[in-house]
Amino acid sequence: MSGAAFLDRDGTIIELVHHLAEPDKVALIPGAGEAIAQLNRAGVPVIIVTNQSVIGRGKLTEAGLAEIHAEMARQLAAHDARIDEIYHCPLAPTVKDPRVIEHPDRKPGPGMLTRAAEEHRLDLTRSVMVGDTISDMLAGRNAGVAATILVETGYGTKVTMPDESIDYAVPSLSETLPIILAQTGRSGDIP
Ligand SMILES: [Mg+2]
Repeated sequence: MSGAAFLDRDGTIIELVHHLAEPDKVALIPGAGEAIAQLNRAGVPVIIVTNQSVIGRGKLTEAGLAEIHAEMARQLAAHDARIDEIYHCPLAPTVKDPRVIEHPDRKPGPGMLTRAAEEHRLDLTRSVMVGDTISDMLAGRNAGVAATILVETGYGTKVTMPDESIDYAVPSLSETLPIILAQTGRSGDIP
C-alpha cells in the first residue's frame, strides 16, 4: 500500500477566499501547481480533504462546488498537475473551536482521510497531511498519518507555534516536497 499526500484546499493550494463560491475567484497559490506536478511525477497519490461549510450554510450547491473544482483542475493542468481525488465535508459547524470534532468527516475529524485510505488502499502511516490550520493538523493526527505539515499561507500565517499537532512548518506547498517524498518512501524517485 502506498502513502499519500493529503492536502487541504483553501489557503494551501488555492488562495484563501472566505466562503469561496465563485469559480472566477479561484487562484493557485504561487508554486502550488509545480509542487503537485512533482508529486504526480513521483507517484504520490494527491488527495484533497476540504471542509466546505459554505455548502451547509446554503451559500453554494454541490454543482457549484464542482464548477470551482473544474476551474482549479484547469489551472493545475496548465502546470501538468492533477488531483487524484477530492473529498469534501459540507457540514456547517456549530462550535468555533478548531480542536473539537463535531462530525467524523469534518476536520479535525479523520473521516475523509480514513475513507480515502479505504477507497484507494492507502497506508495512512506512510501519508502526510498538509494544511494551513490547526484543524488540518489534528485531522492528520486523528487519522494516524506519519507527519503533519503546516504551510504558512492562508490562515497559516496566524497559527501560534509551536503546537503539538504540527510536525513541520514551511513557507508554502513548494517546500513540502522533500518531507512528503521521505515520509511516503518515494525519496528515491525524485524526478
Ligand atoms: Mg485551509
